[in-house]
Amino acid sequence: MRCRPTTIMRGAPVAMYRIDSHRQAERKRYSQHASGPLRVALIAPPWIPVPPPGYGGIEAVVALLADELVARGNEVTLFAAPGSRTRARVIAPLAEAHPKEIGVSLHEVDYVAQVFSMIDRAGAHGEAFDIVHDHSGFVTVAMADRIDAPVVHTLHAPFNAETRPFYERHGHKCTLIGISSYQREHAPPGVRVQAVVPNPLRVSEWPLRESKADYVLWMGRMDPSKGADRAIAAAREAGVPLILAGPVQPGQEEYFAQQVAPHLDERLVRYVGEVGGRLRAELFAGARAFLMPIRWPEPFGMVMVEALATGTPVIAFPEGAAREIVIDGVNGYLVEDESAMARAIRAAARIDPRRARASVAERFDARLVAAAYEDAYRRTLREIAAGAEGISARPARLGAQHRRMPKTAQVEGTAVFST
Ligand code: UDP
Repeated sequence: MRCRPTTIMRGAPVAMYRIDSHRQAERKRYSQHASGPLRVALIAPPWIPVPPPGYGGIEAVVALLADELVARGNEVTLFAAPGSRTRARVIAPLAEAHPKEIGVSLHEVDYVAQVFSMIDRAGAHGEAFDIVHDHSGFVTVAMADRIDAPVVHTLHAPFNAETRPFYERHGHKCTLIGISSYQREHAPPGVRVQAVVPNPLRVSEWPLRESKADYVLWMGRMDPSKGADRAIAAAREAGVPLILAGPVQPGQEEYFAQQVAPHLDERLVRYVGEVGGRLRAELFAGARAFLMPIRWPEPFGMVMVEALATGTPVIAFPEGAAREIVIDGVNGYLVEDESAMARAIRAAARIDPRRARASVAERFDARLVAAAYEDAYRRTLREIAAGAEGISARPARLGAQHRRMPKTAQVEGTAVFST
């Protein structure tokens, strides 16, 4: 039947009865999870397999998290692009990955709708997930109150003029987790970010190199905000060879052609394209310094942590999370502009590579990060149980409660759709 708008009132007796019995069920269900294994559904973005063959910050995070959550004894199902391989059970709803169509809504909506159906089916068959942990983006957040499982969403993008109104409207439907304090501090008023859990890496997988070669490294997407052109200026001023690595993604061709390509030569500035695996690790490990001349509030920046894990100091502009990852004078330098970056390149050898690596192991190792996420899951479940007790309501679960109430018992005076 077609939906038609109707205006309804809260508080019909039948609705109250259903709320009470529902709350009891919720309380029972969620208070069971103070400890013990959890059934976790991880939702990766649909674009690139997990782990990523080359470029893919979010996919690398999800790969580590999936493996570590399994190692901690949880039952983990990963929804991801085809070709994904982790210790978790992997389900790939789409027929193919879409690395060249990142953000195309046709694929994202198709993917999330299929994932949601599978999550609902699991619940209907008595195999409900305790927690759905989303890394896929906006569709899952906006629709989080439509599935019968609590959703934890990692904020991979910054809060900015475009995303703030979105999270103001939809953020209450799930538990939001930030990836840096900077990001959390910039949440719009009224948008609650439950915790900050940084992106992980497995430090033992990165080679520590104490004697460095004579080049500096820049690695990233060829987006102007990442500053390949500024890295070129700084390296030239320092007179040190620069290696640039990273994909030229759709829409970045003009920047690359105008700001980067004209400076390439075999002597001082080399571009090696997108790199992965051993070559990527070797490039990080051998560099005298890693350059991060960003001009945007980067919410994290995996490349900084990867460089540090290999004992390579990071020289960054003090934007976004760079201020948290780089400890000035300890594992690198925070500098204001290209000239200061050039001076810091000359001083890079003063940073102790072992100290640089330790600064990552202490804060970002995958085992610590998985434990922190598990805490966030349990806290979310506790909050829901408390909400069911009437102590404090969890909006995400109240959304689900609304859905399971008779359609005539939703928000007072608000037009809703009823069949
Ligand atoms: N990366 C890679 N090959 C490249 C360029 C980048 O594997 O040629 C990886 C890089 O090592 C990092 C990720 O892609 O793990 C980029 O994540 P980051 O958080 O630095 O930047 P984002 O692009 O997500 O803003």
